[in-house]
Amino acid sequence: SAKHKGRNNFQCYDQELTRHVSAKLSLGASLRYACVNHELQLYYQPKVQLKDGRVVGVEALLRWWHPVLGMLTPDRFISIAEETGLIVEIGEWVLKTACQAAVDFNRNATAPFKVAVNLSCRQFLQNDLAATIEAILKTTGCRGEWLECEITESLMIEDNPQVAKTLEALRSLGITIAIDDFGTGYSALNYLSRFPIDVLKIDRSFINHIDTDPCKVGLVKVFIALGTNLEMQIVAEGVETVSESASLQKLGCGLAQGYLFGKPQPFKALMATLSL
Ligand code: C2E
Ligand code: MG
Ligand code: MG
Ligand code: MG
Repeated sequence: SAKHKGRNNFQCYDQELTRHVSAKLSLGASLRYACVNHELQLYYQPKVQLKDGRVVGVEALLRWWHPVLGMLTPDRFISIAEETGLIVEIGEWVLKTACQAAVDFNRNATAPFKVAVNLSCRQFLQNDLAATIEAILKTTGCRGEWLECEITESLMIEDNPQVAKTLEALRSLGITIAIDDFGTGYSALNYLSRFPIDVLKIDRSFINHIDTDPCKVGLVKVFIALGTNLEMQIVAEGVETVSESASLQKLGCGLAQGYLFGKPQPFKALMATLSL
């Protein structure tokens, strides 16, 4: 009967939910030890100059080698890290590891080679973030010019005076600021002129199929004009085909990342492919 079926469905949903919640709880519990157990690793994805294909920097992307589940990408655990507050400790580990890598990347580099790090809102809103980063630069020997901090539009709409203060402090250390996933954030654009932002990273959703979708061309054209007029560098995220890359170059996009140029890889594997 329908009633019977409905009841079964409910049970099924209930079991699903229980499974989901307990999976999240146990991930949260094991995430607590991920730092000390050395289960975290940074992968690095190249960022290239479109005009000549030169790799000018990398983005650090977090991976968690879970003892049972194997390698987990951030969509599985960053929200848990944020909810539990573990993101602060994990974020510090990320910054320290990325800065150490930046020193190695720059050992034989002729121009400053940037390592970009993703910062979550929660981490950014700690009042001592700039001081923490300054200390990490000092202990690792990393120069501010080698570090880029990626933040999202959602942070800009927080009506919090701390945001501007921290951005200015990072800037004065020589660190550049990038807006990640640009175009996805439903926010007003006035923050672009109010905050010191150096780089606009256009979200992958606008780049995907840009070679065949006139609507995307229109939007990306506007994003590039906007960023360029504000003296920002433009990065296209998620470039997967030669044809997409060609379209972006024609539109005047300077920099790009994506599987076409390189997937995120461990430090050693990437280093071996670079001519630094
Ligand atoms: P994101 O910063 O926008 O990073 C780009 C994501 O797109 C990465 O996913 C990358 O692997 C993926 N990607 C790059 N090129 C391509 C492509 O050509 N095609 C496709 N389909 N995907 C591509 P990933 O590594 O899973 O990271 C997801 C998100 O997790 C990141 O998005 C970032 O917001 C967050 N994240 C990563 N590492 C950290 C971290 O250390 N701290 C914090 N707070 N968040 C992080
Ligand atoms: Mg990013
Ligand atoms: Mg992004
Ligand atoms: Mg993203």
